[in-house]
Order: sequence, then structure tokens, then C-alpha cells
Amino acid sequence: MLMSLVKTVAAGVLHHTGYLRRAERPALTVLGYHRVLTTPIESVTTSPLGMVATAEMFERQVAYLARAYNVVTLEQIQEACEGGRPLPERAGFVTFDDGWADNYTVAYPILRRLGAPATIFVTTDYVGTEREFWFTTLMRALLEGRRPLQAGDGRAAGWPAEVAGELDRMAGLPRPLRPWHTDRLIEMLKSYPETRIDELVAALAGRLHGPAGESRESFFLTWDQLREMERGGMSVASHTCTHKILTQLADDDAAEELGRSRERLEKELGHPVLSFAFPNGDYEPRHMTLAQEAGYRYFFISTKLRPGGPEGRVFVRPCVHDGVGRGPTGGFSPSLMELHMSGVWDRIRKIAK
Ligand SMILES: [Zn+2]
Repeated sequence: MLMSLVKTVAAGVLHHTGYLRRAERPALTVLGYHRVLTTPIESVTTSPLGMVATAEMFERQVAYLARAYNVVTLEQIQEACEGGRPLPERAGFVTFDDGWADNYTVAYPILRRLGAPATIFVTTDYVGTEREFWFTTLMRALLEGRRPLQAGDGRAAGWPAEVAGELDRMAGLPRPLRPWHTDRLIEMLKSYPETRIDELVAALAGRLHGPAGESRESFFLTWDQLREMERGGMSVASHTCTHKILTQLADDDAAEELGRSRERLEKELGHPVLSFAFPNGDYEPRHMTLAQEAGYRYFFISTKLRPGGPEGRVFVRPCVHDGVGRGPTGGFSPSLMELHMSGVWDRIRKIAK
């Protein structure tokens, strides 16, 4: 509550004094989306809410970008980086990570209507498959499971004490469990190696709702959908093969994720793929080197602002979700939208932590 008041006041002051327009704005303002859903936000059971925008808010956010900025394509950015035509003043750019099917079914028609191009960074091993990310399996088990979570389930599923303790805490929450209740658990699990996370999630899901990975929908885009969107003015680039966080991999495995995903994209799409977005925004300077060795020239990172990378070719993306630009009374607020897009809010939050 206090934080939301601070945010609203800060946004108003910074916006109306022109600070957000002047202050350290990069040449390119990038929006980093994941999913766009028609489901009411409180009934989402397949992704953390920080990754979800409703169709209604997505349309307002992108409409604002299209009104207040010059929305550019990936090709325009790459050309400007190579000394070609410079980007227009107040250039804006829309991106999606992971390659969720809703990018085609929900977001694409809205983007077409608004005349706004976007770029999708896909995890190539998931394209056209029925696979799901581990956090989707976990959330479905906890929020849709046939048997509700009970204290002791984590220990019984072989979970380490720290994360089993978080499950016990969640078991004590009033029912039903809501999507935001799973955020802390998901963040805690991210510190484990991916193969270990998969084992832990499968063991828990087995206890709560039968076999893990049993899915009611296809979560990811197909190659045909990606090709169709490219013909419609969108662009596609790489977000690795399997979405493993590069900093948790041996360098050989990181290089494989980088190289193999680029080869697959080029084969399926029939053009060079030179842009890359880091899963979870995590990298060390050596991963920038590995990515360049794999043939990438342009890099999209989160507001975690890690060092390194080729000058002028690394672009920071504030993550955009349903709450971004939503004012205290639920309507759309350009000031709050600007506060997020500028990256200033992420910096304020970091200081406040
Ligand atoms: Zn991702």
C-alpha cells in the first residue's frame, strides 16, 4: 500500500517535471513481455504474474507506446547498430520472451491492429512441442492439484529443508492458493540446477495431481506460427534451446545452448539470426563472449544491469506485466507506464530493498 502510494507520487512528479524524459534515457525504450492472456489475472495457474499481461492492459500499454514513441523493428535496430540509418527520436521496441502460444493467439492480432511490430525471443526446443516449463508444472500442481498441498509434502517428496519449509508455509495459507503465493517458492528454486528442479517438481506434482507434465493446452508457438508472424512484420530471435540459466551451466553447455538455438532458428526461418535474449536476464561477462563466438551481435538484457558486452549493442528491457501502468483506481496511467519504461522504478525498488 505504502509502496504503491510512493510509486504513484514519484511517477507523477518525475513525469510532469520532465525528469523521465531527460534522465539517462537510453536511445531505445524496450518493453519486455512474456505472456498475454484473456484469462482473469487472479485465475492464472500456469505462469508467475510478473510474466503475464491481460489482453486489455497489453493493448493499453502498447497503444501508449505507439502514441508516444516511434515503434521500430529489430531490423531497424540492427541496421542502426551497423552504421546505417539511425533510429528515430524516442524509439520504442516491443519484445516477448520464451515463445508462448498466446503471443500468436492473443497478442499478435492486437499488435496488427495497433500497427506495432514486435520481436519474439524463442526457446527453440519448446517450439511446436507439448512441453511445459517447470514453473508451469509446479504452479498447476499447487493451484489445480487434485489433492491440496499439506504440511510435510515437501519433505515427503524429497525436497531440501529450505524449500520444503516454504511449502509448509504455503500449506498454512488460507485456501484457495493464488498464483502470487508461488512467487517466493519459484525464486528459491531458481538457485538449484535445472535437472534437480525438474526432479523436485516432478516428485511434488506426482503427490498432488498425478503424473507431472500432464497438460491441457499447448503452451508454446509452432514454427508455422512463427513464420506467419514474420511474414506479418514481426521478428524472431534466440532465447536459447531449453531456457536454462547460462550462469548455472558449464561453458561448453552454455555454448551449445547459444549455437544450436541459432542454427535451428536460421534453418526454420531462412534468414540470419543475430539477436539474443538471456534467460532470466542472468549472465557473466564470459557469456557475452560465448554469445558473440556463437555468432550473435545484439543483446537484450533485463534491468539487472550486469556488466560487459559490446558497446551500443546491449539493450536493457524493463519487464512489463499486467500491473505496469495500472493506476491506483485500476485505470491506465501514462506517468506510471513511463516510470517503468524508463527503468527508474526498478532502480528505486533496488534502493528500497
Ligand atoms: Zn525467458
